[in-house]
Amino acid sequence: MADMDHIMEISKKHSLSVLEDAAEAFGMKWKGKGDTYRHAGTIGDAGIFSFFPTKTLGAYGDGGMIITNDDKLGELSRIYRVHGAKTKYHYDYIGYNSRLDTMQAAILNVKMKYINNAIKRREEIANLYRERLKDIEGLKLPVIKGDQIPVYYVFNVLCEKRDELNEYLKKNGIGTSIYYPMPLHLQNCFSYLGYKKGDFPVSERACKEILALPIYPELRDEEVEYVCEKIREFYKK
Ligand SMILES: *Cc1c(COP(=O)(O)O)cnc(C)c1O
Repeated sequence: MADMDHIMEISKKHSLSVLEDAAEAFGMKWKGKGDTYRHAGTIGDAGIFSFFPTKTLGAYGDGGMIITNDDKLGELSRIYRVHGAKTKYHYDYIGYNSRLDTMQAAILNVKMKYINNAIKRREEIANLYRERLKDIEGLKLPVIKGDQIPVYYVFNVLCEKRDELNEYLKKNGIGTSIYYPMPLHLQNCFSYLGYKKGDFPVSERACKEILALPIYPELRDEEVEYVCEKIREFYKK
């Protein structure tokens, strides 16, 4: 999780609202300077979660959730969710069709029963990656900052010769992903803001070096060992 203490400090200082994009943060908890851990999405004014199939708690299609302790925001969210109607067919706002599909809700209810085991298995896999990859030059492993409980929704590494490594892994039957190949300031949809290449060098470098290795609860230890072996092989050449 991001440094929520710092974010809340800035928001207080400037009287800003905080909407937490916790789409990937299901199960993550932040303590910071507080005395109890707080779940991602419960620290700001509102939080959102995605139930896209690949997420830690994923449905079999699209879905998501908004959480808030603010009654007003809660009521508005409920209204916007069903086309902007508070009373059926009486529209106060122009809203969305954003109901959580009943079938997806049923699937999520069942998956909720097993979610802690799934999170634990993700952690075991992450630890195995850390152990096997720690001494490979050319690779940087994720670092947990601050007092928090992480969840390994992805296992991202920063790597030298990322594209060649990715190609090598693919050739050996290993699926990877790049989250994300292009930073926001270089996306067409934000061109009107006038940013150019070089304006956010850290983001740009991360986009060139980042690679997500396979991680999901059903992945077996032998498979993780195989991935690590192939990475080692690549950097030996
Ligand atoms: C997946 C994701 C989203 C989008 O979620 P949807 O369910 O596709 O709307 C937004 N933000 C982050 C950080 C995500 O990972």
